Amino acid sequence: MTRPVAMLGVPWDEGSSFMRGAAEGPSAIRAALLSPSSNLSTETGPDLLIGTHLVDAGDVHVTPGDGVATANAITRAAADELAKGSALLALGGDHAITFPLVRAHAAQYGAVSILHLDAHPDLYPDFEGCWYSHASPFARILEAGLATSLVQVGIRTLNDPQRAQVQRYGVRQVPAGQWDTVAVDRLRLDGPVYLSLDLDVMDPAFAPGVSHHEPGGLTVRDVLQIVHRFSGRLVGADIVELNPSRDPSGITAMVAGKCLKELAARLRTG
Ligand code: MN
Ligand code: MN
Repeated sequence: MTRPVAMLGVPWDEGSSFMRGAAEGPSAIRAALLSPSSNLSTETGPDLLIGTHLVDAGDVHVTPGDGVATANAITRAAADELAKGSALLALGGDHAITFPLVRAHAAQYGAVSILHLDAHPDLYPDFEGCWYSHASPFARILEAGLATSLVQVGIRTLNDPQRAQVQRYGVRQVPAGQWDTVAVDRLRLDGPVYLSLDLDVMDPAFAPGVSHHEPGGLTVRDVLQIVHRFSGRLVGADIVELNPSRDPSGITAMVAGKCLKELAARLRTG
């Protein structure tokens, strides 16, 4: 069985702790996806037909300065697409968008297994007093009981406050330094899986257009192998943290577009 994949833009970056700019991500990713320099083929599935396989659901309305209203709008917009029988592929925005997106998926499917690709654990219980900080979405998700398990891949900035959270919640990690192709085949996730892709999981050599440059990361091919090969049923995904102001050549937007296509191919059949 296949289903359409709804592409939902979330132009929200008020949770960014270091620099703004990720709100410009959705339009840059759409432009890269449709760039005549490439096509809409996928490596494992059919060519994507826009409007049939992949449907643009537009952008969520952001209320400046009101994180509660914006988070609720994100959850509502996601829930509306899920209620149509679509799978959701959200385009950030910074990583704060993931908590309200997972909230919608948990309402539809029950608590989900989360596969989180990132240089950072994003587990701070409190970061500068901002509950929707992009440094905290996975703390919010775990506190709310929205995940049955959390697996984090590519991490390379684990510090003491976040290490305590890993122990408290039983988070599983494949740090960037322990990455290999065998690790991906061991990634077995039970039940419905939500995949959250922070583009800074990749080395800045491949994806420089992010707010936080963290050397020592994965390659584009590593990320595609995860998308293609992890064991589990993918029901939803997001791609976050593209900052076009850091991406003058547009290469990171093209990386995001490539990941979008491969995620959409897998979501169609999830
Ligand atoms: Mn992140
Ligand atoms: Mn990150």
